[in-house]
Amino acid sequence: MDKEVSMKKLRKNIEKVQTAKRLEHTMGVEYTAACLAMKYGVSLTDARVAGLLHDCAKCMTDEELLKACKKNHYDPSAFEKRNPFILHGRVGAFLAKSEYGIEQEDILNAIAFHTTGRRNMSVLEKIIFIADYIEPGRNKAAHLEEIRKLAFEDLDAALIRILEDTLVYLKNSEGEIDPMTEITWKYYTNQL
Ligand code: FE
Ligand code: FE
Repeated sequence: MDKEVSMKKLRKNIEKVQTAKRLEHTMGVEYTAACLAMKYGVSLTDARVAGLLHDCAKCMTDEELLKACKKNHYDPSAFEKRNPFILHGRVGAFLAKSEYGIEQEDILNAIAFHTTGRRNMSVLEKIIFIADYIEPGRNKAAHLEEIRKLAFEDLDAALIRILEDTLVYLKNSEGEIDPMTEITWKYYTNQL
């Protein structure tokens, strides 16, 4: 973690761009990520910064997200073009670097991949993905109680469980499934 990045300043800046409700989710992810970091031996500051910034691009419009990708030379996938909101992870990582001064690759990746996960995730990436799903403000997903407990017992098992529930939910709701989520799930269940 870069020494010059102050948590206080980051939080002040995030408070300016998020609604009260989103801010509550952000804080929830920040402290849940910190708790998981204690359990799994990751830097608490890294976990808190990644948690604090993971949705920093969530308030952007589809148009703004696509524009930010272009500016950063990222070519969105076909799915991402059809569902630009999913790009708030990628774009969040671009902003974390350019607007919030974060340079640590691991933190930027945790932000970029918090919506879908990916193959070979670092412990911090898994922590942010899981914290986003289980933070105390969440109440809609199935099996939350079980998954919350599991997250503190077996990080990979919790990751797989969340991926599975997400895929089942999307299939049932006729939501479009991001192929990245499916790839992550296959990778962690040894099907790839
Ligand atoms: Fe998000
Ligand atoms: Fe989130």
